[in-house]
Order: sequence, then structure tokens, then C-alpha cells
Amino acid sequence: MMGTPADLHEAARRHAADVVRPGVAGWDAAATFPRDASSQAAAAGLLGLFAPASIGGQALSYADGMRVFEELGRGDAAYAFTLSMHNAVTAAIGAFAAPGVRRRWGRALTSGEALGGFSLTEPHAGSDAAAITTRLTPDFSGFRLNGTKAWVTLCGEADVFLVACRTGTERGTSDVAMVVLDAAREGVETVRLYDTMTSAFLPIGEMRLHDVRIEPDEVLAPAGSGFQAALGAIDVARTDIAAIAVGLAVEALEAALAYTRDRALFGGSVLDQQAVQFALADIETDIVAGRLLYQHAAALLGTREGSVAAAHAKRFCPDMALKAAVECAELFGSYGWLKDVSVLPRLVGLARMLQTVDGTREVQRVVIARDLVRRAKALGAPRATNGSGRYVAADVVPADRERIAAPSTAS
Ligand SMILES: Cc1cc2nc3c(=O)[nH]c(=O)nc-3n(C[C@H](O)[C@H](O)[C@H](O)COP(=O)(O)OP(=O)(O)OC[C@H]3O[C@@H](n4cnc5c(N)ncnc54)[C@H](O)[C@@H]3O)c2cc1C
Repeated sequence: MMGTPADLHEAARRHAADVVRPGVAGWDAAATFPRDASSQAAAAGLLGLFAPASIGGQALSYADGMRVFEELGRGDAAYAFTLSMHNAVTAAIGAFAAPGVRRRWGRALTSGEALGGFSLTEPHAGSDAAAITTRLTPDFSGFRLNGTKAWVTLCGEADVFLVACRTGTERGTSDVAMVVLDAAREGVETVRLYDTMTSAFLPIGEMRLHDVRIEPDEVLAPAGSGFQAALGAIDVARTDIAAIAVGLAVEALEAALAYTRDRALFGGSVLDQQAVQFALADIETDIVAGRLLYQHAAALLGTREGSVAAAHAKRFCPDMALKAAVECAELFGSYGWLKDVSVLPRLVGLARMLQTVDGTREVQRVVIARDLVRRAKALGAPRATNGSGRYVAADVVPADRERIAAPSTAS
């Protein structure tokens, strides 16, 4: 059933409060991904947020749907990240897959019967994604896929993956393709699962692909367009992560508000101390700024400004969430480090994860800086600041000096 954006935000808030927050310790203890929880998320309409109605999706715009991830981030950032990835895969299959592939996976994904994952990273290729070597080679009437993928979230658990691969051996992105991989197919093998800092319930690991059969209609983006397709999905994922980070920071803030209100100190409470109130005020300002950044990015996704806007949000929000989690833990005093008293140790670890996943902080700066350099090249001569009409700078690049001096000489 389709819901309004407000219905879905509320459904996500309830899912986080009623299913995720009370469930996560048990999931970790069992070290098992909670398929019952993801099925409940599907029943609430949260597994096909951006997918078309024809496959049971909600057909939300990113601007309308992104708040869902803030709400889910309040429950658990790793679980929210998993649903973000699943939603991206579902939207891509709903929009771009061949009819047979869409029929095979579309409704299974929106109903939660199947889970989807996205696999770009390889053991030697993370930030430098163009260095991937997983090969797609033509076979009798289709293709074979060979390679090893790393950091595969839902490794051994997801039913279908979008896999980035290449059809040639040259460097660059002109031969990168994207295929739909049925995880049950012969030749798909989990090599190992990582022992991570948080979230024992979430299987992340290495997946070996040995001569896996790929049907012609399972090529979602052919050679040449696969890298662009991956980058488009990553822009959405970065915005999702920013929203999840804001949810995490809200969770940290509210834990600190409740604790400092109740903790007696010097005849009053911790919250009575003005320095504590100021620390909390700064965290709230950062949360508001983070929310505006991810909403701004969500509104621009798919446009020329979308990638840079997503990079701003992804750069700022996880850093902000980590700072909020550490500072809120500090307000608990020593109790901030006790897992059975406070959620903050878990939040610190999860915020750290959000900094890296879907592109590190440095990679976001690369995207932003590249845009600034492009802007610098398009700018005219700097305006004169010395009253003479002539720009003076000792270190003007020699080749540029003449060009910069020219306008003032003419005037
Ligand atoms: C919890 C988790 C889940 C993940 N899930 C998935 C998934 O489902 N699918 C998937 O495909 N990937 C996934 N990843 C992989 C993730 O996207 C990569 O790990 C990430 O892009 C970083 O790559 P790397 O670890 O190889 O680091 P490297 O690329 O080796 O980077 C090492 C360091 O160099 C820095 N660096 C890189 N380039 C520059 C530069 N130009 N200037 C300055 N510094 C630079 C980086 O910021 C980093 O600090 C996941 C990662 C995590 C942590």
C-alpha cells in the first residue's frame, strides 16, 4: 500500500522505536541479520521507498523520502545503512532492469522476501574505484563473472547484488559495467566475514565470483555506463548516510538530555550547569545544519549539482555525529563508557563507520575541491584591492600574470 511522505516518516519512526532499538542487542548477541525486522520494514512500506508503484514501491522523490533515513538512524545506523542500500538496489532494478529481471526481483525486493546489496569495492580498490578488476567476459550466449569483491554488506545474506565489473583490462572507466547478480548462482562464495568494531548482526565480508553465469538481460548498465550508474547510486547513498548520521546525533543528544536532567550534581543537576547547556546547544545547532545539508542534497540529486551537494552532506554529517556522540558520552561522566548504562559507546562506533562507508571524508573533500578548482578556472581576473586598479600578488603564476594585468592596463 502506498503512503504519503508523512505516513512513511512516521512508519520509520515507529519501526526504529518499536523494532530496531529494542531488538539490536539481541541481534548482536545472535550475530544474525534480523530478517523478521526487515520484513516488518517492508510491511510498513520502507523497502521500496524510491521504487515505482508497478513493483510495489512508494515512488517517493528523494526530497520527500530522505527523512525516513534520519528516523531509521535513530534506531541503529548499521541497520539503517543496510535498508538504504537495499532501497537503492530496488529503485535501480525498478527503473532500469529488463522486464524479466524486474519481474524476477522487483516485488520480491519491495516485499522483503529478497534483500538487495551493492558491490563495487575490491580488496585493492576502495576510494580508487576505477581500479576494480572483476571481469565480465562473453560466454556462449551470455557472460561469465570472475573476481573478488570486498566490504560486501549483507555478504552471504542478500539474495541479489548489483555488481560493478569491467569488460576489458585497460585502466579507466570506459569499460565498467553493472550487472544484476543472483546470489544463489553457482560460483558465488563468501570467502570470509569481517570482525567489525560494531554490529555483529551485520555480515560484511569478501565475496568470490568464480565463473558465475550472467544472462544477457542481467546487464543493468552496459560497458561504458556502469561507472556513471555506480556514481549515481553512490550520490544517493551518501545523502542517505548523511541523514542516518543526523538521526544518530539526535539519539545521542536526547540520551544526554535525559541523563543530565536526572543526574544530581552540586545540589542541582548536570543540566543546570550553563557550560553543559552550551555544549548541548552547539550539538543542536550542528544537527539543524546537518539536516539542512542532507535535505538540500536530496533535493538536488539527479541534477548537475547533486554530487557536490551529496559530498557536502556526507562530509559534514558523520563528523558532526561522531563529535556529538563523543561529547554526549562525556556528559555521562564515566558512565558514558558503560554499555549497559548508555547507548553512547555504540553510537561512537557507528558514527565512525558512517565516516568511511560510501566514500571517506577525504574522498568527499576530493569531490568538493574538484568543483572549486573548476570554479577557479572559470573566474575572471581577481578584483583589484589596492586602489590602483591593478591586482598585485607576489605569487601569481607567471603564465597568468600577463592575463591578470591586462584588464587594468587597458583601463
Ligand atoms: C561498514 C562498511 C560497509 C561497507 N559496505 C560496502 C558495500 O556494501 N559495498 C561496497 O562496494 N563497498 C562497501 N564498503 C567499502 C567502502 O566504500 C570503502 O571501504 C571506502 O570507499 C574506502 O576504501 P578503502 O577502505 O579501500 O580505503 P582506501 O581507498 O585504501 O583509502 C585509505 C585512506 O586514504 C584516503 N584517501 C583516498 N583517496 C585520497 C585522496 N585522493 N586524498 C587524500 N586521501 C585519500 C582515504 O580517505 C583513507 O583514509 C563498506 C565499508 C564499510 C566500512
